[in-house]
Amino acid sequence: MKAIVLKAFGGPEQLQLEEVPTPRIGAGEVLVKVQAAGVCHHDLLHRAGQLPGAHAGVVLGHEVAGEVVEVGAGVLQLAVGARVVVYQRRFCGQCRDCLRGRQDLCRALGLPSVDTEGAYAQYLRVPAISAIELPDGLDYTQAALASCPIATSVRALYGEAALKPGETVLINGASGGLGAHQIQLARALGARVIAVTGSADKVDSLKALGADEVVVSSAGYSAQVWKLTAKRGVDVAMENLGHTLEETLRSMTQGGRVVVLGNVEPGSVAVAPGLLIGRRLQVQGSGSATLEEVRVALALIRGGQVKPLIDRVLPFQQAAEAHALLESRQVSGRIVLSGW
Ligand SMILES: [Zn+2]
Ligand SMILES: [Zn+2]
Repeated sequence: MKAIVLKAFGGPEQLQLEEVPTPRIGAGEVLVKVQAAGVCHHDLLHRAGQLPGAHAGVVLGHEVAGEVVEVGAGVLQLAVGARVVVYQRRFCGQCRDCLRGRQDLCRALGLPSVDTEGAYAQYLRVPAISAIELPDGLDYTQAALASCPIATSVRALYGEAALKPGETVLINGASGGLGAHQIQLARALGARVIAVTGSADKVDSLKALGADEVVVSSAGYSAQVWKLTAKRGVDVAMENLGHTLEETLRSMTQGGRVVVLGNVEPGSVAVAPGLLIGRRLQVQGSGSATLEEVRVALALIRGGQVKPLIDRVLPFQQAAEAHALLESRQVSGRIVLSGW
């Protein structure tokens, strides 16, 4: 089969088209013909050699939608021809967390392209429990975004933060892949959205997505949030950046819930214990999603409440170009690879 192989850590030119053996499935597995694969920031880190534990000589990609073309022994719930999206990690399906529906907490979580084959290829072998059937009428390019950027936001916003209608939510990094989908998820629930972005030219597009107010700031936004909420603060915050946590904590109301799901500039941040105590704040980490939350994401896409933000669709041969575009920040939303 054709695949885009990462020849060595380095620039986009290291992504090269090669002929590699088509995977052979075993019991409990299915072979998926990849119809669409999202290009994630994670793939850029891997390519550049900045992902701990990652190797070169592999195929990247973990945001996959496709068609089941072969079914292994013992697979009862999927048949050849099924249209599926693939859960973004590998989980064991047998541990205590998996069995209580928290696949995002499984200790055996493996990442496609790091621990297994990746998706910039014609075919992908996956455990049948990782393949989730698509609702009718949902196309592959849209579905490819369900697992990574959208379901991760479903987990953080609906799961960890348990956002409710009528609450106010702060979303920073608002024009990124997480933030832009969180705005839509929050609006679908009837919450008020205050979006924070670093660039003034994103204001209109964020309002079009459903933000009630947009604060343009790369650093200090808590004073403006304070004004917008009549000195009450926000009920919930999505900390998509990490290094801005201090500002986010200052933007919270009494009993506010902060979910940290981004770490754009890895390092440490100052946290004032007095602020946590005085405002009775909850700070919660979040990452990935449960299988059920991927289904929720698919249902919301199907229902039109969330529109996957796709910058453009390119053939797999142009994976290197997709990486270069994403790296130079000329992209709004995801680039999806589809077709050869
Ligand atoms: Zn991703
Ligand atoms: Zn498990």
